[in-house]
Amino acid sequence: MSTTTLTEFPSHNPATGEVIGTYRNASVEDVNAAVARAHASSRAWQALGFAGRKKVLVAWDAVISKRLSEITELVALETGKPLSDASLEISLAIGHLDWAAKNAARYLSPVTRNPGLIMANMKARVERAPYGVVGVIGPWNYPVFTPMGSIAYSLAAGNTVVFKPSEYTPGVGEWLGATFAEVAPFPDIFQVITGLGATGQALTNAAVDKIAFTGSTRTAKKVAAAAADRMIPTVLECGGKDPVIVDSDANIKKAAEYALWLAMSNAGQTCIGAERVYVHHAVADEFIREIGDMAKEIHPGINKNYGPATMPSQLNVIQSHIDDAAAKGAKFLIGGTDSVQPPFVQPTIMLDVPEDSLAITEETFGPTLTINRVQSMDEAVALANATRYGLGASVWSKRNGEKIASQLVTGMVSINSVIGFAGVATVPFGGVKDSGYGRIHGPEGLHEFTYLRSVVSERFALPFAFTTFKRTKFADKFLTSVIKFLH
Ligand code: NAD
Repeated sequence: MSTTTLTEFPSHNPATGEVIGTYRNASVEDVNAAVARAHASSRAWQALGFAGRKKVLVAWDAVISKRLSEITELVALETGKPLSDASLEISLAIGHLDWAAKNAARYLSPVTRNPGLIMANMKARVERAPYGVVGVIGPWNYPVFTPMGSIAYSLAAGNTVVFKPSEYTPGVGEWLGATFAEVAPFPDIFQVITGLGATGQALTNAAVDKIAFTGSTRTAKKVAAAAADRMIPTVLECGGKDPVIVDSDANIKKAAEYALWLAMSNAGQTCIGAERVYVHHAVADEFIREIGDMAKEIHPGINKNYGPATMPSQLNVIQSHIDDAAAKGAKFLIGGTDSVQPPFVQPTIMLDVPEDSLAITEETFGPTLTINRVQSMDEAVALANATRYGLGASVWSKRNGEKIASQLVTGMVSINSVIGFAGVATVPFGGVKDSGYGRIHGPEGLHEFTYLRSVVSERFALPFAFTTFKRTKFADKFLTSVIKFLH
């Protein structure tokens, strides 16, 4: 059946397959109506100013915090992730909401600029204006943290928002919309429309002024193409193939412990999760022994170390990457070609994986990790960069961390730690290459949801004018002499 003919769709518990809710599959008309309502409320939301919007967003933050256990359970139910992981995700999202609410005025208020000597009679300033209505399209793997990076920053900047959550986590999306409605001074500031892919496509084609998309690179390209047709800007947060680089002077035990968590937590369904390790040959045996010992203690299951694959079709991708690596001669430290046991995947660590394997070249999005030995950090950097993705990376070295990090073609790097950049609210989050463009979080995340308006006005009139047909010969002569003098 065509998805466009469905009026409803179910949400499942991925661990059991049980249907846990039924949601509206919003039509093109539904989406267009929501966007029209968002436009209608836009002026009033802008008129509240930074202080008024901060009040609303801080109140929303308080509601989410107060009902943390409720949303934690819902995230765990719809994604299958352990409760403690869901709680961590939401806590980080609350931190971003709070930061955006409290810092929008600081980073988005108009700034004055020096007009320069020749234009000294002018006053110049740069303003940041909200786009109007932002369409936010989200994924399922971090259904609160990920879209919140666009929702909170868009709203704080003065935009109204229409949010299409993933069809795998519609309940979480609706919960966010309902809790915002409790604190909203008037309707249609933040609306949630549930639906399948076609609903996302309808939002892309609707009269939104900007699109913030988080999801696969494949879908991002469709969104970008549709947006290009209408000349509207996008911020695209897409997939990754993040490397972990381990130098000979690294704290090996800690590097192994953190790399294991980064690869396996959330069943490997993390855009900034570890997928590849490049370890210096001098410490490779030690690193492999450490990570192998620790990995034996990690088990998937309901509320165990990690849950099931949230999206059943991903199991085929994970299986194909494992099979391809095995066929090309990779060895298994942990797991094997029988690791995929629907709906779970056992931890799988592959060694000496040929660089042309799918497990190295494509995003696996499962609890798998490749470990390859390198002769030098130059080789590690070259291999880390030899991918079409460029999202995050983790570097382990006591002396060379900064140097290695500076050579990585990625949007974010953690040194002697993992994913620090996702939790620090003041730094931008995003990637390069097929991992997308634009940024959420931090001052740049606020800037992303505004456009620039340069405003220049006359402070006093000069005795001669340049931008008129009445320009005199004296004015020409004056300008030429000043230019010659200055340059
Ligand atoms: P997806 O691309 O399948 O879906 C993302 C969203 O797009 C969903 O809401 C979906 O309904 C919608 N959609 C589908 N077709 C569409 C279309 N033609 N037009 C508009 N919208 C459409 O991705 P997913 O499986 O939900 O998410 C997993 C991917 O997201 C992974 O690749 C992961 O790396 C990436 N991700 C990236 C980040 C980041 O910040 N860079 C964060 C989380 C996830």
